[in-house]
Amino acid sequence: MTMIKVSEEYIAYQKLLVANIYNWKDKAACISLSSTQDFFDNKDSNLHNLSKRYCQKCPVWRECLYTSMVNQELYGLWGALTPKQRKTYFNYILKEATNKNISFKYWSKELNEVFVEYCTPEKVSEYFNFSV
Ligand code: SF4
Repeated sequence: MTMIKVSEEYIAYQKLLVANIYNWKDKAACISLSSTQDFFDNKDSNLHNLSKRYCQKCPVWRECLYTSMVNQELYGLWGALTPKQRKTYFNYILKEATNKNISFKYWSKELNEVFVEYCTPEKVSEYFNFSV
């Protein structure tokens, strides 16, 4: 996965993120399972099954995916996507940012806005051709 360098702006966004959504995990549909081995299973098929069971009815799906993208989470199920899917989608968002002439060398307000825009059910469903 392409790593975006940390900057002062990135740290400010991290603080903002934590302030805004610090308790979203309490509303997670997977709250009883999120710390179990199942959620960090290496097999994509197992994660897909969990995604169908939990993520599709999760009220904090968007926050979950956005958080995983901002933190570049490498493991587990986040926002209905497996690590492989998130890597693909992350690179797709960076490509879209490039098309908008937004640099992804450092985290910026503009780059953050692209991530917010693309962490929506509509965009993810369109990209992967499935409903979330
Ligand atoms: S979207 Fe899925 S992985 Fe994320 S909190 Fe909801 S149920 Fe858990």
